[in-house]
Amino acid sequence: MHDLIVVGGGPAGLIAAGRAAERGKRVLLLERGPALGRKLLITAGGRCNVTNTASHDAFMLAFGRQGGFLRDALRAFDAPRLIEWLRLRGIAVIEERKGRVFPADQSAATVLRALADYAAAGRVEVRLNTRAQALLRGPARAAGVRAADTSIEAAAVLLATGGLSYPATGATGDGYRLAREAGHTLVQPWPAVVALETREDWPARVQGTPVKNVSIQALAYAAAAEPAGPARPRKLAEVFGEALWTHYGISGPAILDLSRDVVPAVLQGDRVELRLDLRPADTEEALDERLLHAIKRQGKCQVDGILGDLIAARTARLLLELNGIDPRKKMCQVSKSDRRRILRAVKGLTLQVARPRPIEEAIVTGGGIPLAEVDPRRMESRLLPGLHFAGEILDLAGPSGGYNLQCAFSTGWLVAESL
Ligand SMILES: Cc1cc2nc3c(=O)[nH]c(=O)nc-3n(C[C@H](O)[C@H](O)[C@H](O)COP(=O)(O)OP(=O)(O)OC[C@H]3O[C@@H](n4cnc5c(N)ncnc54)[C@H](O)[C@@H]3O)c2cc1C
Repeated sequence: MHDLIVVGGGPAGLIAAGRAAERGKRVLLLERGPALGRKLLITAGGRCNVTNTASHDAFMLAFGRQGGFLRDALRAFDAPRLIEWLRLRGIAVIEERKGRVFPADQSAATVLRALADYAAAGRVEVRLNTRAQALLRGPARAAGVRAADTSIEAAAVLLATGGLSYPATGATGDGYRLAREAGHTLVQPWPAVVALETREDWPARVQGTPVKNVSIQALAYAAAAEPAGPARPRKLAEVFGEALWTHYGISGPAILDLSRDVVPAVLQGDRVELRLDLRPADTEEALDERLLHAIKRQGKCQVDGILGDLIAARTARLLLELNGIDPRKKMCQVSKSDRRRILRAVKGLTLQVARPRPIEEAIVTGGGIPLAEVDPRRMESRLLPGLHFAGEILDLAGPSGGYNLQCAFSTGWLVAESL
């Protein structure tokens, strides 16, 4: 009989298995896929943004209202402890802007190897290509797992099966079904860190063009009918960074950053508008001065050339066309009303969000096992003692920046400590 069966060989399951084994427990880890940590390997394009150096308070705040749930998990194993854990295994880290931490060799494979070695050092029994099918229940306790049509008994079970995004990595929501067998409910999964489809179809015409140094505000107009008068929007988020035009709308790091605040509003039926300022460093007056200067001094130049010095050339040409201005028009022919339209397009470009991209394409799955059904001191089910949860299966979704991996490591570690 095992002390612990870990279902899922991602970061949450691996650290829990390794730590429990280090504490002398007999651990079996089941992984449905042919290899461990398939999602971990593709994190940050293979560079693995392994954690974030934000303080505990800032870290919890990044998870929104749910963040306080992580207090004990962070006390047990936070970013400094993870960095020390990596250092003891010969893995140095580098810190980039906004507290993002990466292994110095920028390789997710290095981190995965350390986790797999940790489990191996504790003699964790790893069974690949083995999918947990059902939960075994003893009298009022979790008693093991049914896998490969065999019943495997254990004193405790950890579901670390991830969410629903990137299903090719093995995350297909099995854990939600297993938890339901124990009486758990589910907060409907939703794509949390994800690109956005727009109602406008013109972004397709400039797909692949980056939108650098852009400031983006997301505003929601409530679905409920407003009383007479102009609808007052509610500001959902404001970010600065880089976006990218795509065939369906808009993506890129800045969009991924604000999507977690945008998607719930879209899903509840609010109209959500993105307002892009393509030249946030210039005031409208300063920009107008530049246009006036070009009209006086560069009258023979084409307007697309002048605007193309300020924003990406392809985007500049398209925005001129969309505003009824011939991109080949000479600057000396640019009228006051042309100038007004150019300023509006550059400083206040609006897009309507149609929907998020599908959950399969999301970086992070929101929703999952309701936190009220889990004891945060032990990451243990309040409904079935002996059943634990860690990582993305929980109803927690952090922003990009190393928060989600640290959440997986902290919650997984706490499970091992609580056995
Ligand atoms: C493209 C991409 C880039 C990302 N980059 C970052 C980043 O740089 N930094 C960051 O913090 N986060 C990043 N994330 C998010 C991060 O990868 C996840 O939050 C993290 O992997 C969650 O860990 P987990 O162990 O909970 O789940 P997972 O990593 O999804 O692991 C779950 C495992 O359970 C297995 N499993 C599922 N069902 C069963 C079953 N029935 N039986 C047995 N095994 C099962 C799966 O095969 C899988 O191996 C990224 C995500 C994506 C998709």
